[in-house]
Amino acid sequence: MPDIGWNPLHGVPSYPAERYAALADRIGGILRSRNDILLVQAEAVVALEAVAASLARPGLTALNIVTSPYGTWFGQWLRRGGATVADIVAEPGRPVEIEAVVKALDASPRIDVLALVHAESASGILNPLPDILGLARAGGIVTVVDAVASLGGHELDVDDLGIDIAVIGPQKALGGPAGVSALSVSPSAWNLILRDGAPRDSILSLADLKTWVDGNRRGLPGTPAPLEFFALETALDRIEAEGLENVVARHALAASATRAGLAALGAPVWVPAAKASNLVTAVPVPEALEPASLIEAAGWLGVEITAGVGAGSAHLLRLNHTGPRAAFQTVLSNVVAYGTALRQAGHPADIAAASEAISAAYSR
Ligand SMILES: *Cc1c(COP(=O)(O)O)cnc(C)c1O
Repeated sequence: MPDIGWNPLHGVPSYPAERYAALADRIGGILRSRNDILLVQAEAVVALEAVAASLARPGLTALNIVTSPYGTWFGQWLRRGGATVADIVAEPGRPVEIEAVVKALDASPRIDVLALVHAESASGILNPLPDILGLARAGGIVTVVDAVASLGGHELDVDDLGIDIAVIGPQKALGGPAGVSALSVSPSAWNLILRDGAPRDSILSLADLKTWVDGNRRGLPGTPAPLEFFALETALDRIEAEGLENVVARHALAASATRAGLAALGAPVWVPAAKASNLVTAVPVPEALEPASLIEAAGWLGVEITAGVGAGSAHLLRLNHTGPRAAFQTVLSNVVAYGTALRQAGHPADIAAASEAISAAYSR
């Protein structure tokens, strides 16, 4: 056998069975929810698919708000399970308009489920969540909120807002691992999931996961990946030490400082502040310039600027200030690198003014 030496990743111990319940309780605390918290042993897209697969069946009717590929997928998973789904597709890269939701609700005699993404990391938009949830509550509709990107970046009080199912992942604003996710499930959501025979014996079955909640909440089914759960615990330690309100405030400051910097740079932003997420700031690339060459120019400086994702984002770039990136040094380097890239492409950019603006935004 080759001697490959000591490695801390050899012989990783199991995650202690008695600590899963504490993890779920801490996630419930962050979500401000007394609903059941389920742990999903996979990245958050799997948790989202599990929600759709567990709700969907012939006879179920859903309104599905689409503001990125995640919403498109959610509608497809519901349809695959036989549900009748009406998509409300927002303008590409824009938040949904509340009027469109009102109209869709008025046009539908009975809706069981309404699904939407809270804040999009794909385009940097924020959907009008409290208003939409108010409409759903009034109609007795079970709500599903993809809060994977928004948790930690925006206020999210699950029980106060009346969210029936909130799906989260630690890998965005919480700065944690990507291989585990979680969701909260309300009694009304369970009623819908469990009526006339929920799917079972599947990795996508929430009914299967309910047996963990209803039991002693010790070992999860199968062989959980221990590193992910140790990393989740560490991420929660850090979030709790900082305080969730402070984490959210840090993201809000990163977003407003980024916007101030871009304004001073002379670069427009994609959506006004009230419609923008605190996670990434999207900028429309000037007509004559190529997004790829700006990305490359920033990359040469060691700064990662990325292309927008999804419909309508071909000419968008994203300045990412999520998680540990919601900090002065990243905000400053993002904006200055974007300005440098613009200038190299022959486009004016006032880098000095942008730096001043970011410095002022971060002054106490
Ligand atoms: C990142 C993200 C997800 C999860 O995607 P992963 O591939 O699991 O990282 C889901 N929804 C939204 C809105 C996201 O931003």
